Amino acid sequence: MTDTENLLEVRGLKVYFDIKGGILKRTVGVVQAVDGIDLDIKHGEILGLVGESGCGKTTAGRAILRLLEPTAGVVRYNGQNIYEVRHAEMKPYRARMQIVFQDPYSSLDPRSKVGDIVGEGLRVHGVTDRNERQQRVLEALRMVGLQEHHMRRFPHEFSGGQRQRIGIARALVLNPKFIVCDEPVSALDVSIQSQVLNLLKDLQQSLNLTLLFIAHDMSVVEHLCNRVAVMYLGKIVEVAEREELFSNPQHPYTQALMSAIPVANPKIKKDRIILQGDPPSPLNPPPGCRFHTRCLEAVDICSQEEPELIDLGNNHLCACHLRQPDTVS
Ligand code: SF4
Repeated sequence: MTDTENLLEVRGLKVYFDIKGGILKRTVGVVQAVDGIDLDIKHGEILGLVGESGCGKTTAGRAILRLLEPTAGVVRYNGQNIYEVRHAEMKPYRARMQIVFQDPYSSLDPRSKVGDIVGEGLRVHGVTDRNERQQRVLEALRMVGLQEHHMRRFPHEFSGGQRQRIGIARALVLNPKFIVCDEPVSALDVSIQSQVLNLLKDLQQSLNLTLLFIAHDMSVVEHLCNRVAVMYLGKIVEVAEREELFSNPQHPYTQALMSAIPVANPKIKKDRIILQGDPPSPLNPPPGCRFHTRCLEAVDICSQEEPELIDLGNNHLCACHLRQPDTVS
C-alpha cells in the first residue's frame, strides 16, 4: 500500500557489504551499513537525515537512488518499487531522482568545461539537439546564480561555493522531482555554507522539489528541513517534525547531538552531553539497542532487546525502551 502524501517510501532497507580476506577472497565479515530502515518522504518536503560519520546515512541515500543495490528492502517512488524496475528501464527514474555530492572538488571532472559537465546528463538522456542542450544548461546555471560565460570555464577556475552551485545545476538540468543532497555544505567554509543552504531552500520552494538532506551537523538541518530523521549505526532512532524534534528531543542520542549545537548568546549556558567512546563498528554491532554501549540512561533490557521505532504521539517516532507514548510530556 502506498500513501499518496509520500513521494518516496522506504521499507526494511538493508545494505550489507561483504569483507573479503585471504588468498581465496572468502567472506570474512559483513558490514551492516544500513540495517532495516523505514522512511517516508513526503511530496515537496525537505527531510533531514542526520548522524555521525559512518552511521550509514550516505549509503542509505545512495541505495534510495539505486546507485547501490540493496541487500533487502523496498524503495517506492510514486508507488513503484524501483528495485523491481529492470536496469534498462531505470532511465526515467534516474532523470527524476538526482544527487548533489558532498565534495564539490572531486565530483566535477577537472578536464571538462562547466557547460559539458552540466549538460552531460542531457546527452545521456537522449537530448541530441545541441542548441536545446545549451539552452537548458544555461537555464540551470542561472537558477543557481551563475552566468552564460561560466559555461566555458573549467572547475578549477571556481571557488568551493561556486563549484557546489555547478553540482546543483547538474542535478537540476534534467528537471528532477527528488534530490538527495549528500552533505552538500560540509566541505565548504562556514561563510559560504549559508549561501548554499539558502539557495537550496529557494530552489526547493520555487521548483516544488522534494529533498533528502544528509548531514552530520544538527545546526545545518535546523533552519532548512521540515522533518528530521536521526540515524545511529545503520538504524533510524528518531523521526519528527523539525520544531517538535528541536524543542522536545526524546532519544538519548538525539539529545546528545542537540547539546553540541553552539549557541550564539554567551549568556545562555548549555549542558553539553559528552558521549563516551567512538561508535561501535557496523562489522560487529552491539546486540539490543545499538546505542547502549554509549548511552548514559542504559538499563539491563537495553543490551538484550532491540527497541522498536514507535510513535510517541504527534508523529514523533522514537526507538528507545525508556520512551513510551505515556512518558512524553
Ligand atoms: Fe539508551 Fe536503552 Fe534507550 Fe537505547 S534503549 S537509547 S540504551 S535507554
